Amino acid sequence: MDLFEYQGKQYFARFGVPVSPGGIATSPQEAVELAERLGYPVVVKAQVQVGGRGKAGGIKLAGDAEQARAHAGSILGMDIRGHVVRRVWLERASDIEREYYASFTLDRGAKDHLAMVSAKGGVEIEQVAAEDPAAITRLHIDPYTGFSEAQAQRLVADAGLDERARPGAAAVLVSLYRCFTEGDADLVEVNPLVLTTDGRVKALDAKVTLDDNAAFRHPEWEEFAGTAELDERERHARRAGLQYVGLDGFVGIIANGAGLAMSTCDVVNQVGGRPANFLDIGGGASAEVMASALEVISSDPSVRSIFVNIFGGITRGEEVANGIVTALGRVDIKVPMVVRLDGTNAEEGREILRTVESEMVISSPNMMDAARKAVDLAGSGK
Ligand code: GDP
Ligand code: MN
Repeated sequence: MDLFEYQGKQYFARFGVPVSPGGIATSPQEAVELAERLGYPVVVKAQVQVGGRGKAGGIKLAGDAEQARAHAGSILGMDIRGHVVRRVWLERASDIEREYYASFTLDRGAKDHLAMVSAKGGVEIEQVAAEDPAAITRLHIDPYTGFSEAQAQRLVADAGLDERARPGAAAVLVSLYRCFTEGDADLVEVNPLVLTTDGRVKALDAKVTLDDNAAFRHPEWEEFAGTAELDERERHARRAGLQYVGLDGFVGIIANGAGLAMSTCDVVNQVGGRPANFLDIGGGASAEVMASALEVISSDPSVRSIFVNIFGGITRGEEVANGIVTALGRVDIKVPMVVRLDGTNAEEGREILRTVESEMVISSPNMMDAARKAVDLAGSGK
């Protein structure tokens, strides 16, 4: 489960990671009242679970009530890369001298925790990783021995943080690691971690992903679940009992089983496409489920073609095909669809699909070929 920045900061504070006090507003009037209490200048920040809010105009400084009202008014309701802003977080603005980056995450391959620290914060870390990988200092941490004060001090020095930020930054790292481990997170990321002009080090942003498997020992996570950000497609999919993951591309993917859904994403990428989402319809592929899946996928405006990839196991090919035929009678799909059906009774299934084949519904027995067709049909502009 991903937290919003304001929730992440509350979580940080619980483990002693320094953050600025602030509050949430859902209207310009609330924002002004809050700003008056906090004292100017304040920073008004869009609460959406997507990075690059600053660049998108979702973060603004306000020096007085009039500006606080205007900024809250323009940021609330704003669409930031498909995420509509429902709440703004306000905090007393910090005077920034330097911006750094710090995170802890799991390195599953190494079976260790991984700390990453950089003196180049404030920009997307992916960009730093691409342009100047040496600017990110990594340290693997054995989860059994943990992360010591001494390791933290060495890490901030190795990363080249300014001398006067080092003691504060090392202390933040120790608290942040506690938040990561005791707080049962899969990721804690601070970008930027700042050195203020008066020499303090604190977290100006917070990205926290909680490990859902640990929810049983955190009754306090309930409040986070209530605000979890689902887009309309996710809500729709969840109501229909489907597993849906939204992505940034243009080929809609329906597959049975998470493993096949992920392989389908890989294959689409391999042939030059990009998945818009993937929808796992699970073991069965009844007409009901298939119709819901097609509805969810067709409601996504970025989908320019649909790739249905089904491997019949216990569910037989003809049932799947009948499901698709019935679903097509119920849902008006506006983009071309390529169906690859394989596995148990696939030939019988394909025979049934022949009755609905057209320019809009194409069947191909081969996964790679079907992926190519789906990507071609998505057309230009990819
Ligand atoms: P993101 O763009 O979604 O990662 O949002 P951040 O919370 O990281 O903020 C983006 C940038 O806004 C930061 O890197 C800072 O440069 C700036 N910013 C955020 N909070 C403050 C603040 O309190 N004071 C000042 N001066 N700048 C801020
Ligand atoms: Mn940030």
